[in-house]
Amino acid sequence: MSEIKYKRVMLKISGEALAGDQKHGLNTETVNKISDKIKELHDLGVEIAIVVGGGNFWRGRSGKGMDRTTADHMGMLATVINALGLQDSLEYRGIPTRVQTAIEMRQIAEPYIRRKAVRHLEKGRIVIFACGTGNPYFSTDTAAALRAAEIDAEVILLAKNVDGVYDSDPNINPNAVKFDKLSFLDVLNKELGVMDSTAASLCKDNNIPIIVFGLNDPDNIIRIVKGENIGTSIR
Ligand code: UDP
Repeated sequence: MSEIKYKRVMLKISGEALAGDQKHGLNTETVNKISDKIKELHDLGVEIAIVVGGGNFWRGRSGKGMDRTTADHMGMLATVINALGLQDSLEYRGIPTRVQTAIEMRQIAEPYIRRKAVRHLEKGRIVIFACGTGNPYFSTDTAAALRAAEIDAEVILLAKNVDGVYDSDPNINPNAVKFDKLSFLDVLNKELGVMDSTAASLCKDNNIPIIVFGLNDPDNIIRIVKGENIGTSIR
């Protein structure tokens, strides 16, 4: 146990990270690779809560001309597909998991109940939170911040397709500079776009550190939990 820096973590996996190169939908091979690393983390004795995004299927803002609330409901449903896909992959690896949804769908998953979620974590089950916060106009990054605060997670591990936060888009600007450390005020004032301002404010107000890292090398999850400085740390 001594080799781990964090005992309880919130892992935020965006929908895009589950889509692999196809950029849309669920890529089974990608999901399985991520599950292998989550299993390693679980084997180290880390309590793991996961919030999954849904952008690989649908984002509220993609619904141009649509009623925003309806479009956001569709986005929240997309997160359930990802949650079930990830659950299946983790359970195939012998890890007990529970999916809890912020919008009730009892035939499919448990409704979100904080005390139950914490109990699952204490018993070594991985809890996957779906449907974001359950409210339109929010993001799954905000859901990760909210649930992290509720379950007393020590850190949010924000898995992205880039290896940290840059001063400009590294895919466009070859001279983009990566930050090793940032404050939440920097993120808010410089509008760095790494997460929405609601999520950043919630983490700032509740002192929840975030580590932004690239999931292209899934080993990064393990390195961070063992205390290596990878990606960008925001606090
Ligand atoms: N969403 C929402 N409320 C929430 C979380 C998510 O309405 O609390 C909707 C929103 O439409 C969002 C979509 O679900 O665009 C998918 O979530 P997100 O874009 O955060 O997924 P990611 O970018 O992480 O894949």
